[in-house]
Amino acid sequence: MTETRFAVDSSTSAADAVTAVRDWVTEHVPAAWREAGERGGAAAIRAVRSREEYAQWYPVFGASGLVVPTWPAEYGGLGVSLDVARAIDGALAPYNLGRLNPLGLNLCAPALFAHGTEEQRLRFLPPIVRNEERWCQLFSEPGAGSDLASLATRAELDGDEWRVTGQKVWTTWAHESEFAVMLARTDASLTKRKGITYFLLELDQPGVDIRPLRHITGEADFNEVFLDGARVPESQRVGDVGDGWRVANATLSSERQMVAGAGSGGVDRIGGLGVEHAIDLAVKRGRSAEQMVRQRLAGLYAEERIRAWTNQRARAGAAAGKPPGPGSSVGKLHSCEVNQRLQVLATDLLGMDALAWESDAPDYDSSLPHEVHGMLRSRANTIEGGTSEVNRNIVGERVLGLPREPDPFKDTPWAEVPRS
Ligand SMILES: Cc1cc2nc3c(=O)[nH]c(=O)nc-3n(C[C@H](O)[C@H](O)[C@H](O)COP(=O)(O)OP(=O)(O)OC[C@H]3O[C@@H](n4cnc5c(N)ncnc54)[C@H](O)[C@@H]3O)c2cc1C
Repeated sequence: MTETRFAVDSSTSAADAVTAVRDWVTEHVPAAWREAGERGGAAAIRAVRSREEYAQWYPVFGASGLVVPTWPAEYGGLGVSLDVARAIDGALAPYNLGRLNPLGLNLCAPALFAHGTEEQRLRFLPPIVRNEERWCQLFSEPGAGSDLASLATRAELDGDEWRVTGQKVWTTWAHESEFAVMLARTDASLTKRKGITYFLLELDQPGVDIRPLRHITGEADFNEVFLDGARVPESQRVGDVGDGWRVANATLSSERQMVAGAGSGGVDRIGGLGVEHAIDLAVKRGRSAEQMVRQRLAGLYAEERIRAWTNQRARAGAAAGKPPGPGSSVGKLHSCEVNQRLQVLATDLLGMDALAWESDAPDYDSSLPHEVHGMLRSRANTIEGGTSEVNRNIVGERVLGLPREPDPFKDTPWAEVPRS
């Protein structure tokens, strides 16, 4: 397995880039994956490529620059134009080369591009692209979810380090990450949004205790994280002290885009399978002639196309360097609600088999039929990355220009706001 950069730069045309991608694929992607992709698409690839094999091979992709073609070469990309990047993505699409480290690519990187220093970008972006340092997000707390700005974790400067104490919750993949983007309160005498600062925290240190939480599907892929004097060097503060809310917005709007399926690879649909699967299932189960089933399938097919086009537009905007902004709430709302309806339909098509099934699997989560697993996991879509209610507020206020939600404590110092 050789790790080489892809031979394309800012002067290469889209047509030449496609030829170069084809040569790269022939040389670097294992033959069995290539043939499966060309024969039967993503499903055939999944049958011959395990997650472990993909992770082992990933350094080849990570070193090529193809993971993030529009990023400058010094950050791990190729520095190509949006048109060339689109041509590259199109040529790679049949091989289903998902981007690993989605929280590094979609949550940390946008904050560093918008508000980080050049040293921070050079230090952190290349290992994100190569999946050598994986990232999670320490934002939510037991008392601060939708109202994130009321967070209570505090950071105090001690020489040239910050010491952080508090509790975070729902932290996806904290147990398998090396770093976290984190918000902490650095001045409780200011109003809630003003006293927050944004940090990059290394997780493998004595003041960090990570404990698993279980999803309704049985898996434990998120966590609660206790911080007790955890240390962050001053050089890992992003943006000014007290300006963390502004920095966090770069992460949050990009996160909404990621959950909608419009982020940098890796995350397309969280929970469940696509509409084609539901159509196959209806045919296999002899339900495809039922009027109501046909109507639901046709409606979801159309909505899935809209979802794909909206995501394509959002991805193109991101690749062109356009910040996602409040419009990302629209994609998030639609995408997550469509996915829930789709997974419910797939489960309905299973009929009684969705209620009871035979399985030799050793544990609950691996015994669940795909459709039931997808339906259960998709319930969280309208909560993760900001709830649907909160996204409707954002659309109301920042897209439609409606009056802001009243906040009686808007001008009250955080320390004086009553809380339970
Ligand atoms: C699967 C999953 C993964 C997650 N991963 C992460 C992660 O990696 N890192 C991280 O930091 N967080 C993560 N979260 C947390 C997520 O961001 C929060 O759950 C979410 O923001 C909602 O916060 P909450 O759970 O505290 O609910 P609350 O804020 O307590 O909301 C409860 C209910 O009240 C409604 N509500 C609240 N305020 C308003 C309002 N102003 N107007 C109308 N309705 C309102 C909400 O919509 C919701 O229905 C994850 C959550 C899930 C489910």
